[in-house]
Amino acid sequence: MEKNIENLINEFFNNNNDIVTRGKYLILIANKISEQEFNIRNKYMKKFLNKIDLLSQSLIENASEELMDIYLEKEAENKYLSTVLNTDIYLTVGMFDYLNHMIFIGNNITENFIEQSNSNILTLEKMNEILNFLYENYKKFHDFCPFECSFINYVNKSYNSLSYYFGKFNPEDYGYNFFFFNVKNDISPIYVFLHEIGHYIHINITKGKLNINKKILEKIKKTGFSKLVSANNDIQKEVFADILAMGIMYDSPYEEYDPFVDITKEDKKEFKKLVNEILK
Ligand SMILES: [Zn+2]
Repeated sequence: MEKNIENLINEFFNNNNDIVTRGKYLILIANKISEQEFNIRNKYMKKFLNKIDLLSQSLIENASEELMDIYLEKEAENKYLSTVLNTDIYLTVGMFDYLNHMIFIGNNITENFIEQSNSNILTLEKMNEILNFLYENYKKFHDFCPFECSFINYVNKSYNSLSYYFGKFNPEDYGYNFFFFNVKNDISPIYVFLHEIGHYIHINITKGKLNINKKILEKIKKTGFSKLVSANNDIQKEVFADILAMGIMYDSPYEEYDPFVDITKEDKKEFKKLVNEILK
């Protein structure tokens, strides 16, 4: 039985397995560890967490020294796994909830990740081009926290992209991670990237609080988005990311990738003004 858990853990960390197979192992590991008595449970939990830490460290050590760290292929999958299973989560929630979290992540991967060859994903060149555009046009961007970026070669049924951040907000070393999946074909990965940039701007201007200040809400109130004021925090956060993305795209080289064709030009002009003000 014990040998069995050891094997499962090794299979989960085995790079030769694809991420969906690793998701299946993750569920098996969590279930097996849960079944054990106290000492054995602790022993294997520790072993698993240790390997997660080692994986995170090895990724950092291999990362380039450039403006941002970019992860592709297997490294991107490992970055994803080590981020969503970060041992800080264990320290915060404890073993019982962490085991449930492992099952949740495992199910999420096995149910949502679809391998797809016709990739509709942002290229590195395009991403660098957009970033240069942002750095050139928006001064404040230079003060923002560093970020890491992973391109996962799967379609995710639930998300085109995700971002994760860890630790207390500190612009120098806040851990900010973007994950980009292959995008469903009716939408542009350029818009998906700028939506994530919207979240990134938001977290930087609020220093991690993710509230929308009253002055900004007053401005948005005058547009077609007047109901945003009374929406819940999650909806506010998502809509605000889109508002910022629309503001960046309007009257820019990326205007044609804006999927919000029903939003008026007048509103988009207001959003552009807002972005200019926030990022001046
Ligand atoms: Zn979002």
